Amino acid sequence: MPKVTDAQVLEALRTVIDPDHAADIVSLGMVSGLTVRDNNVFFAIEVPPSRGAAAEPVRAAAAAAVDRVPGVVSVTAVLTAHRDSPGGAAPGAPGAPGGGRGRRQGPGALPGIGAVVAVASGKGGVGKSTTAANLALALRVNGLKVGLLDADIYGPSVPRLFAITDRPVADGEKLRPVECQGLKVMSMGFLVEEDMPMIWRGPMVQTALQQMLRDVAWAEIDVLVVDLPPGTGDAQLTMAQQVPLAGAVIVSTPQDLALIDARKGLNMFRRVDVPVLGIIENMSYYQCPACGHRAEVFGHGGARAEAERLDLPFLGAVPLDIEIRVTSDAGLPIVAAQPDSAHAQVYREIARTVWDRLGGGGAAGRRPPRIVIE
Ligand code: ADP
Repeated sequence: MPKVTDAQVLEALRTVIDPDHAADIVSLGMVSGLTVRDNNVFFAIEVPPSRGAAAEPVRAAAAAAVDRVPGVVSVTAVLTAHRDSPGGAAPGAPGAPGGGRGRRQGPGALPGIGAVVAVASGKGGVGKSTTAANLALALRVNGLKVGLLDADIYGPSVPRLFAITDRPVADGEKLRPVECQGLKVMSMGFLVEEDMPMIWRGPMVQTALQQMLRDVAWAEIDVLVVDLPPGTGDAQLTMAQQVPLAGAVIVSTPQDLALIDARKGLNMFRRVDVPVLGIIENMSYYQCPACGHRAEVFGHGGARAEAERLDLPFLGAVPLDIEIRVTSDAGLPIVAAQPDSAHAQVYREIARTVWDRLGGGGAAGRRPPRIVIE
C-alpha cells in the first residue's frame, strides 16, 4: 500500500474552498494538527467561534477530499475554534483577547461553573495529580461546590486516585460527571481507551477537552479544578488557550523549582494571559512519622524565596509523606481519608489562598468568553 504523505494530504486539502473567504483552507491557514499515521489521517480545521457548526460543510468536504487520496485508510477531521483564525473575533469582540493580564472580559464563559483553575507542572512525576485531587477535595471541605477534570490524556490518574469504576452516564444531551467524595469528577481516562496510541492523544486532547467543558453537566459548581498534562509544550499552551481559565497553579518539587521548569510554566500562562495564582511546593520536606523530625531532604528549603525571585506567589509547601502516597494509592486521597490530619490542613490552607486569589467567587470578570466550539 502506498504510504500517504503530509504533502499529499495538503494537496488534497488545497482543493477545498472556504466559501466565507473564497480561498482554499490550506492557504487560509485553517488546517492544523495534521498527523498521518499508518495512512490514518487526522487534522483539525480552525474556524472562528462565530461560525460554529455552520462550518460543518467545509469539514465534510475536507474529509471527503482527503479520503480520495490513494492509500488513505481513515480520515478524522474535526472543527475547532481559534481566536486567530481567519475572520476570527475582532479586537474587543467576544472571543478576542482582553485588555491585559487576567482581564479577558466577556460574558459568562461556562454556564454553571464559577471559575476554572488549572493545575500544571513543568514535568511529570512531581505530584501534580495528587495535588490537584487534594486541592479539589480541600476546596470542597472548605465549603465550596467543586468539580475535578482530569485532562492529563497521557496519564489520566483520577480514576486510580479515587478508585472509580463507574463511568459517566448520559443525562439528556449531556454527560453526567461521576460523583465521588462530594466532587463532580470527569477524566479523559473515562473516554480514552488505555491502548489508544499516544500519537492520537495529542490532537484528540483539544476536542476532548472542549467536550469535557461544554458537554458535561457540571452545573452548578463554584470551581472546576483541571489537572493538565505535565509539561509546558504546545499541547499545554493550546489547552491553556482554549479553556477559559480564571487562573493557574503550578506544582513543583524543590529541586525543579531551582531549575527552570516552573519558570517555563509561568511564562506559558503569561503568554496566554492567564493569571498564575501561585506555586505549590510538593515533596517539600520530610517529616519523620516516628519522631516528628523535619528533614529538608533536598537541602533546599528556600522555596518561598525562590518563588519570589521568579515573581511567583507561594501557595504552600506539602511534605513528602508516605501517608500522602499510600492514601492516593488506596483510592482515597489524604484530604478525603484524613480530613482532620495535619496534611489535610496544609491542603485546606492552600485551597483557601487559591480561592482568595480567585476573588472568592468574584472571579467572573477574569473569565474570558468561551472561545471554543466544535
Ligand atoms: P504527576 O501527576 O506529577 O505525574 P503524581 O501525582 O502521579 O505525579 O505523583 C507521583 C507519585 O508521587 C505518586 O505515587 C504519588 O502518590 C506520589 N506523591 C505525590 N505527592 C506526594 C507527597 N507529597 N508525598 C508522598 N508521595 C507523593
